[in-house]
Amino acid sequence: MSGSTLGNPQNTIEILQKYQFTFQKKFGQNFLIDTHVLDKIIHAADITKEDMVLEIGPGIGTMTQYLAEAARKVIAVEIDKNLIPILSDTLSGYDNITIINEDVLRVDMRKLVEEENEGRPIKVVANLPYYITTPIIMGLFESQVSVESITVMVQKEVAGRMKAGPGNKDYGALSLAVQYYAEPYIVANVPPNCFMPRPRVGSAVIRLTRHEKPPVEVRNEKLLFDIIRASFNQRRKTLANGLNNSDKLNLPKEILTEVIESLGKGAGVRGEALTLEEFARLSNKIWEYADIL
Ligand code: SAM
Repeated sequence: MSGSTLGNPQNTIEILQKYQFTFQKKFGQNFLIDTHVLDKIIHAADITKEDMVLEIGPGIGTMTQYLAEAARKVIAVEIDKNLIPILSDTLSGYDNITIINEDVLRVDMRKLVEEENEGRPIKVVANLPYYITTPIIMGLFESQVSVESITVMVQKEVAGRMKAGPGNKDYGALSLAVQYYAEPYIVANVPPNCFMPRPRVGSAVIRLTRHEKPPVEVRNEKLLFDIIRASFNQRRKTLANGLNNSDKLNLPKEILTEVIESLGKGAGVRGEALTLEEFARLSNKIWEYADIL
């Protein structure tokens, strides 16, 4: 196997020129050109020769080379067909990489993991296309793909939202959804000059380690997430009003107020003050009225 070579900016430029590659903004293409950041990602992802890794958006294969050296097997899903001949070239020295030319949101991940890894948990590692960060991450969690951890580069502000708790201005539906499924850990902040072309926003590497089982027990997951979304839909409204305005819940305001008060909260409380555990209790109480919801 050849060593990783692309992390060096000069080699990236050479490849881009050789293939006269033009960046497509609509695909969120910002390629990593910093070997220290690449090393940090690989280290945080904690990959061993037992692991199958899914990479989303390999670009010209920079991180893919690092992953192939650390893992048993790498599956990389890339939407841009213009990158496929480049990947065949830059990854030609490796025999443990499969490239799939497809939109990652259209790939049946459960089937892929079942077929390629006999259903054993995989590790996801990526420098994500920022325009679809949330659907990718929530899709992986909700589709019950067997995933052990997700170590990804995301927009810095989004990493902050995933990690935030009650009382923090960034706390919201994404924080609760991510924390229901996983333990977030911010690995590093990454400035725009580590990418080509430079993104207009700051970036951060975040590792999400999947819980073996969610930290709270809920009687109906869908109801929990409907409640969370309704609570944050109108940030300046009270929790009772947010829930009352949701078309997913059909409970009279008096019952909503009663349920909220039974948590030991005042009627004027806002959703952003509730912990995941409190949302779970709220959702289990509302579930008692399932026959009239
Ligand atoms: N991994 C490379 C690196 O670090 O240099 C490239 C990262 S770049 C931020 C995002 C990559 O995701 C691009 O290669 C882009 O073409 C690809 N991409 C964008 N949308 C995608 C989608 N829906 N499915 C699969 N890949 C996608």
